Amino acid sequence: LSVWSTVPAGPPDPILGVTEAFKADKDPRKINLGVGAYRDENGKPYVLNAVKKAEETLAKQNPDKEYLPITGLPEFTASAAKLAYGADSVPLKEGRVAVTQSISGTGALRIGGAFLGRFYPHVKTIYLPVPSWGNHTPIFRDSGLEVKGYRYFDKKTVGLDFEGLKEDLRAAPEKAIVLLHACAHNPTGVDPTPEQWKEISDIIKEKQLFPFFDMAYQGFASGNTTRDAFAVRYFVEQGHQVAVSQSFAKNMGLYGERVGAFSLVTSSPEERARVDSQLKIVIRPMYSNPPLHGARIASTILRDEQLYGLWESEVKHMADRIIQMRDRLYDNLVSQNTPGEWNHIKKQIGMFSFTGLTQPQTKALAEKAHIYMTADGRISMAGLNGKNIDYFSESVSKAVK
Ligand code: PLP
Repeated sequence: LSVWSTVPAGPPDPILGVTEAFKADKDPRKINLGVGAYRDENGKPYVLNAVKKAEETLAKQNPDKEYLPITGLPEFTASAAKLAYGADSVPLKEGRVAVTQSISGTGALRIGGAFLGRFYPHVKTIYLPVPSWGNHTPIFRDSGLEVKGYRYFDKKTVGLDFEGLKEDLRAAPEKAIVLLHACAHNPTGVDPTPEQWKEISDIIKEKQLFPFFDMAYQGFASGNTTRDAFAVRYFVEQGHQVAVSQSFAKNMGLYGERVGAFSLVTSSPEERARVDSQLKIVIRPMYSNPPLHGARIASTILRDEQLYGLWESEVKHMADRIIQMRDRLYDNLVSQNTPGEWNHIKKQIGMFSFTGLTQPQTKALAEKAHIYMTADGRISMAGLNGKNIDYFSESVSKAVK
């Protein structure tokens, strides 16, 4: 008998399952709106010019392949923190932000979860928005935290359930941990307004909750990295000791390079040094030290004025293309007299749109129109382009009628 004969088969990943069904479909009209990766005007993966240029610069420097320190490339982590917190950030200037490189956003969340699991001195329960990115629950559960939810999305308005959110945060145990999507909430595309963020900050302060920001889409929401960092920077200004997870997968298109950072605001450089030392002890047995190449690319872009400018314009281009697709989809659905209210398509922010399509409708779209999305009706806006948007809108219109 095999050692592994009793291992039960696990369920397939809900998002990768969509890609498999798409790949098996032979119809030329097929569209994959499942995966959260940017696609260009021709539906192709997009390597940013800033990235290509940074790689050319790096190739000329002929760098070695030595190990990085446990917490990564120092120039990279310094630039990443500046991007998140802002060049004028007081805790950054005072040298009291602990930062480490991470295996993209997922790794940052996992390091954060493990660090909180080990050292957070209060209730080790993390509250996630309902719904949230599907990987949040397993990441934090596997990190040893208890996972609970707070209301976030209102199906009726296809918008933020702000009253529910406030009620649930007020009802949470004092000092519990709260996960916040810094911008471009996945999967709903619904973000709080700056005014709402201020109220959330007040409640978090009142209840002494611990804010953990997941910033996987800085720049991708509005096209502007400063605007998208509003919530994080506002919270820091308000004196919150935040934790921040950053990913360069989307905003630099470095998906498979796995570039990210995890940071914590501490109260002094001396405290930061203690936290740093423990971050190393968390990371060392996980993967020893992070990969080199992507961090070199990101740091080259972030530290070179010209490349930085080029990158900013490319982030804006990606965000603008998505916003354009939202407008076109909305206009098409309305002009085709599609039953229902479609304003949310234009109002939602970032990579995704929660269309409000039901499970039977998404099933029908896959079977009849070769259009693939997650069963909850979430579409990746980046999968739409000038060539398939009309076919997509007509198909949705039919599925709803
Ligand atoms: N957090 C959110 C909300 C995401 O949507 C994603 C990616 O889809 C991630 C984190 C992490 O992605 P990565 O590990 O590729 O940086």
